[in-house]
Parts: sequence; C-alpha cells; structure tokens
Amino acid sequence: MYIDGNWLAAASGATFDSRNPATGEILGTLPNGNGEDAERAIAAAARAFPAWATRTAHERSAILYKAWALMLERKAQLAELMTGEQGKPLKAAQNEVQYAADFLLWFAEEAKRVYGESIPSARADQRFFVAYQPVGVVAAITPWNYPVSMITRKVAPALAAGCTVVLKPAETTPLCARAVFEILHEAGVPPGVVNLVTAQDPKPIGVVFSTHAAVRKLTFTGSTVVGKLLAREAAATLKRVSMELGGHAPFIVCADADPVHAAKGAAGVKFLNTGQACISPNRIYVHKAIAADFIDTLAKRIGVMKVGNGMEPGVGIGPLNNAAALEKVDRQVQDAVAKGARLVCGGQRSMGDGLDRGCFYAPTLLTGVTPDMLIYREETFGPVAAVCLYDDKDDILALANDTEYGLAAYVYTRDIGRAMRLFEGLRFGIVGINDINPTAAAAPFGGMKESGLGREGARAGLMEYLDTKLGGFSV
Ligand code: NAD
Repeated sequence: MYIDGNWLAAASGATFDSRNPATGEILGTLPNGNGEDAERAIAAAARAFPAWATRTAHERSAILYKAWALMLERKAQLAELMTGEQGKPLKAAQNEVQYAADFLLWFAEEAKRVYGESIPSARADQRFFVAYQPVGVVAAITPWNYPVSMITRKVAPALAAGCTVVLKPAETTPLCARAVFEILHEAGVPPGVVNLVTAQDPKPIGVVFSTHAAVRKLTFTGSTVVGKLLAREAAATLKRVSMELGGHAPFIVCADADPVHAAKGAAGVKFLNTGQACISPNRIYVHKAIAADFIDTLAKRIGVMKVGNGMEPGVGIGPLNNAAALEKVDRQVQDAVAKGARLVCGGQRSMGDGLDRGCFYAPTLLTGVTPDMLIYREETFGPVAAVCLYDDKDDILALANDTEYGLAAYVYTRDIGRAMRLFEGLRFGIVGINDINPTAAAAPFGGMKESGLGREGARAGLMEYLDTKLGGFSV
C-alpha cells in the first residue's frame, strides 16, 4: 500500500495474490488491507490537505504534467501489465493507457483555469464574488474493467482541484493501481496527497471510506447495487458523491441506416473489452427492413473474432473477470434461447487450447430478443450481442428508454432530423450518433437515472471536486 509517501505492508501483515485471468498464474502478492489501513490513509490525506490546497494551481499542474509524461514513457510496460492482470488484448491495453494519460494532461491544463466569478448586485454598495475551493479529502473506489484510466479519471481532477485522495482499486487489478501510484510518486506528488489501500475484501474499506467524517467526497465507479449502498452510507455525513454505475445501452439502427456500416459499429463497440464495459450495447434494436444485411454482417464479424490470451497476436476476445461473470452470461444466453431467441453463433464457454484455465466465453449473437428475456433487462457484461427487431409500428424511443439505466445509447441513421429527435429524447447521459466512441478526457462522461450521479472528464469533472463559495462584500 502507499500511505503518506511510503510503501507499506497492511497493519495486520496479511497479503493476497493477483492472478492472470487467462492462465491462473500468480502475478504478484499485495498487502491485504482492512478498515484500520483505510483510517491510516485517511489520516495521512487529512494532514496533507491544507498544504496541498494552498499550493498554486501552476505547481499542481506541473506535477500532473510530469505524471502524464511518465505514463506515456511507460505505456508499453503498463499495457503488458494490464493485459496480464486484467486480460484485455494488448492493443486495447495500450489504448487504455493512452486514455488514462489523457486525463492527466487534460486536468494538468484545467487546473489553471478554475476561474471565479463576479456577479452584479442590485445594491450599489454590494459586490458578489464567487470562488471555487477544493472539497477536501476524497475517497475513491475503482473497478477492474478499466484498471488504469478509471484511476486517473478520478485522481487527476481531484489533484488539480487541490484535494487529497485515498483510493481502493478493484481486488483483481491491484498491480495496475500500484503502477499508477509509482508514477504519481515519481512525478513528485507530496506525501499524503495520494494514498493507495489494496484489499481482497472491499467491504471494510468501503465502510470506512463512506462513513469517516474527514472524507468530504466519495467517488465510485462500479455496479449500481454497490453504488447505492455506498451512497446510502455516505448520506449520514452528507458527503458529496459521484457515482459512475452500470448501464444497459440501446443501439438503434434505423430503417434509413447503412446496415453494413452499423453492423461494423455494433461489432466494434459490443465486443470491446469482451463486453465488459459500462457503455456496452445491451439491446441492439434493428429495423426489420434492413435486419437481414445487418445480422449477416455482424455474424461474419463475430465469426472471425479470436478468443484467447490477450498477449497473443490477433486475439480480440480476452477472458471474463471471474467465474460468476461467466455463469451470468451463460444464464442470460440459455434463458433467451429457451424463450425463443435464435442463437446465430457462440452460446457456450470456450474450452480448447488451454482456455479452460480462464473464464472465456465464445462471442455470441442472439436474434429475436424480446422484453421477457433476462438479457433485455439485466446488464450482461460479456461478449453477447442481443438483437431485437422492430418496425414502424413500434415507438423506438419508448422501447430504448424502458430501463432503469441511463448511461450510453447509440443511434445509426442518415436522417438528420431523426438523429436530433432521438438525441433529444433518449434519457441517457452519452449518445453516440453514427459514432461508437463518444468518450474523451475533454468530454463529460456519466449517466442519468440509476446509472449514476455526476460527470467525469471535461470541465464538469473538475467541478465535482470543488465547493462553490460566495462572498458578499459591502463597500
Ligand atoms: P463492483 O461494484 O462489484 O466493483 C467495483 C468496485 O467496487 C471494486 O473496487 C470493488 O472492490 C468495489 N466494491 C465492491 N463491493 C463493495 C462494497 N461493499 N464496498 C466498497 N467497495 C466495494 O462492480 P463490478 O461488477 O466488479 O464492475 C462492473 C460494474 O461497474 C458494471 O456494472 C459496470 O457497468 C460498472 N462500471 C461503470 C463505469 C462507469 O463509468 N459508469 C465504468 C466501469 C464499470
């Protein structure tokens, strides 16, 4: 763990292993922290806060620039570590390191642009001034699916704003987190300003993070069920919360769309990170008029996807995170088939050539998916494309919005008016119009409804770590 500028063992001395999900091999052994370690980390962050908050924005920015440069220098090593620990193909891991570095750069720049405001008063003898100040100690919990970028997306804006941080990474990707903290250490982040607590069991740390009075903001990326639990716990001390939670993205292919282009887009975004992305399409609505060409192209694309260890050239589909994820994906597929969906390809665990050592699932295409099926409601988080057919009698906007989630949605159409109507009507925080990658450090990322609260990236991502202070001056 990294607390107060030192690399430490857990207070209890306990450890746990991190394993390669493709091979089962042990990659490293880490301190297995508990609530006591979380408290030590929070105490360090609270001590470091006043000095960090009063450093100039230019000084904080310079450290973030240094971290950005170091991360890019280490892109190859970090990507290899990520493929080993998380399983995604090496090229995808390299892209993620770039995305992670983008946040360090963006917030190094934004750190210097926390402008206040002056507001005209109705009284001649009064002046209003608004200043933005760091909220204080931030507790962050990050997931395994994007194990480097989800850390910089939180830590970079927090540091830019002048906050100090305690972070607990996912239990299956602690080595990636350690590598990020090594960079922050070398970039010159002062002791106590960033602190890392690794643990196999997240619960005791989660309780301390969400209830400790010194923590003024809790930022979480993960499942909706855990996000709700943490938000409830954080309410007792009225912490600010940011929640980046689950999704159930609709992917709408209108009758006027190019079905081949749309199918290529669907294949690209659906199987990204083996479907383990919160913005992954879960319901692919295709208009019946063009469904045959769409399904044919999608099936061909899926048919050539290679499943395996992400270190091997040509592999596009890595392992799922754990056995429970494998079981959930298979349950959804079997349920859909039992209720009348057509299995075009895939539909079972991949086992040959040593794949049985990891949790691999064959890339799968289901058509004829209907609202009574589990996959139509539950987040899949796996390599299954679920196609639902619709026609002009259906209200496609109502169908797409019929979910408690509201993170990402996609639309393929060549009609600008229809594109605008769907963009405006979809109750989702991110809408890709003929675009499967509507994300960037400069763009606000986050969900509506039960997909979350707050935004990450962009200027909005910095405001999440700032309190607004009004000064009324009588002159
Ligand atoms: P998860 O909620 O189980 O785990 C995420 C993190 O929360 C991990 O660090 C884990 O250790 C921690 N955690 C789990 N239980 C906890 C508890 N009781 N107290 C404190 N911390 C706890 O989620 P998961 O299933 O591993 O990850 C996938 C989920 O994350 C999906 O639902 C996905 O959509 C979501 N996700 C969302 C975004 C986004 O930006 N909206 C990004 C990536 C993943």
